[in-house]
Amino acid sequence: MIRIALALLILSCNVFALPEHSPVPGGIAVIAIGINEPVTFNGRPVMTQRTEDDVYAIIGLPLSIKPGEHELIVGKRHIAFTVLAHEYETQSLTIKNRRQVNPLAQDLTRIANERKEMDQAFLYFDRESAADTDFQTPTVGPQSSSFGLRRILNGQPRNPHSGIDIAAPEGAPIVAPSAGKVVATGDYFFNGNTVLIDHGQGLVTMYCHLSSIDVVKGDMLAAGDAVGKVGQTGRVTGPHLHWGVSLNNARVDPALFLQSE
Ligand SMILES: [Zn+2]
Repeated sequence: MIRIALALLILSCNVFALPEHSPVPGGIAVIAIGINEPVTFNGRPVMTQRTEDDVYAIIGLPLSIKPGEHELIVGKRHIAFTVLAHEYETQSLTIKNRRQVNPLAQDLTRIANERKEMDQAFLYFDRESAADTDFQTPTVGPQSSSFGLRRILNGQPRNPHSGIDIAAPEGAPIVAPSAGKVVATGDYFFNGNTVLIDHGQGLVTMYCHLSSIDVVKGDMLAAGDAVGKVGQTGRVTGPHLHWGVSLNNARVDPALFLQSE
């Protein structure tokens, strides 16, 4: 009897497939808010999801956030929550193309324009949109690099790893993890061939280093639709998919969305 109850409980969790509550820098806070009112965190809108038992605010926590008490504004209410400390490991990599570690002056305008295009996608928020957080893995392969690693490239400190790397072979299919709209595609300086998908309410996923792109800006995708093929374009040490997830403009660990898989 207990086993049946447990199975039902697990099943009901899978139906809604909220991301995992992991209140650390680079993680996600999942907080019950009772009634569905507009939620903001640090002045910016935050995703809400209704399940059978409650309404939840789903807050992306940037890697730069300070551990300690933080505050959510829900309608006129203030809800405190605690961000726990988490240490990420350091990873040293050698990049053969040194220009991809120390870009030339002539590369900087291109890099800034690409940054602007990505930031625009990350900052977009439509409270009325339905956010599909029920993710499937976008490509099959071993995880070769985890989220949040502090990175040393050719002996120099660089931004921490903002996604996970899946070491699928060149040409392996990449699919949309859930329904969404293609909001940008391009051949970016660091990220190579790149696709950005908006899943609603500030949830955006990013696919980098593709050998080919199978979508165009504006395409509406269902879960499992083709996005492109795994490759090694941009700054890489071999073929893989770099998969990034942004939630309310915080880059968070994509693995937190794959708990029900
Ligand atoms: Zn990566």
